[in-house]
Amino acid sequence: MLPDFVATQVELTPYNTLALPARAAFLARIQRVEQLIALIQHTEFAGRRRFVLGSGSNLLVAGDFDGFILHLCIPGKRWIGEDAEHIYLAVAAGENWSDFVAWTLDCGWPGLENLIGIPGTAGAAPIQNIGAYGAEVGDFLQQLTALDLARGETRIFDVRDCALGYRDSLFKREGWHLSGRYAITEIVLRLPKNWHARTRYGEIAETLARDGIQTPTPAQIAQVVTRLRACKIPDPRQLPNAGSFFQNPKVSAELAAALRHTHPQLPCYPQPDGSVKLAAAWLIEHAGWKGRNLGMVGMHEKQALVLVNRGGASYHDVQNLSRAVREAVFARFGVSLTPEPVLLADGGTPL
Ligand code: NAP
Repeated sequence: MLPDFVATQVELTPYNTLALPARAAFLARIQRVEQLIALIQHTEFAGRRRFVLGSGSNLLVAGDFDGFILHLCIPGKRWIGEDAEHIYLAVAAGENWSDFVAWTLDCGWPGLENLIGIPGTAGAAPIQNIGAYGAEVGDFLQQLTALDLARGETRIFDVRDCALGYRDSLFKREGWHLSGRYAITEIVLRLPKNWHARTRYGEIAETLARDGIQTPTPAQIAQVVTRLRACKIPDPRQLPNAGSFFQNPKVSAELAAALRHTHPQLPCYPQPDGSVKLAAAWLIEHAGWKGRNLGMVGMHEKQALVLVNRGGASYHDVQNLSRAVREAVFARFGVSLTPEPVLLADGGTPL
């Protein structure tokens, strides 16, 4: 018999913020690491597909899933030490990321303020190295603990082992987030005691200047970020969405220069590797898709990068819109967009 924390034939609409419908054969609500260890030794678990779920805020549900959804809800956050330069904090996988950031600020440990408001759990944060307004979780990650679901062994990954990149990590690159190879159970962050404000993103600097703030506190930066996000990114409880639907494309310096020649307003951000990051939202808007709908989905009127479910949308609707937007951007700019959310599929057609 399966443990009582495993439910069967579970409707997944409440488990993905885009609110796409599908069923999972099994869904395990994991609140302690011991439950996970007990489950992976269970005969019902062996040989079945598994998928590790946080809060479903970056998830595209493509259809019914005939395996185990491991819903990581492990709570807990604590100070674990400090030295002359840093404070060290451990946070369990199931903690809400933004609430955790707010807690660090309340405790007087600044550093994460630019990352407030990013949806999702702490355990999911390193997988795509979440980032916003010129900071990313990789700037602070010290190490993480993961359970190898095939071997039942705990493994510590030092930040260097995680091979973090721009919205990327070893976990993502190896497809471990799709295959359910590891469940991240805890992350450890290192916050510098020598705090400095990160205000290089134009919108932050402009808002602070408008408010007459010259030397902002961490709390003031968190307030500005919260306000900026609230203006543009719809609350999934009111309008289901999965945050940014496409990654910002990185192109060669030559292509960026050619595009800039024909489109002088195109925002371009040179990268350390010589490539140039383009703003996907700008490309979508100038390909005519900002605020436009197709079927039951659309690209949001305030933030063209956010695909929204207008009510009762299916994965098929999402697929059609994603293709239409990608084709329009490619036809206009010769740039390919890549969807950002993780696909939960039982062999369904990828986007
Ligand atoms: P924005 O300020 O309109 O800027 C558009 C894009 O240009 C952003 O995606 C950003 O890239 C890039 N950019 C802007 N200023 C930059 C600078 N000084 N240096 C380098 N790149 C710069 O962006 P937005 O759509 O309103 O989003 C604001 C921030 O929230 C962005 O950092 C965005 O990534 C973040 N955000 C993150 C998520 C997520 O993690 N899933 C979801 C929504 C928004 P970057 O994206 O690389 O920062």
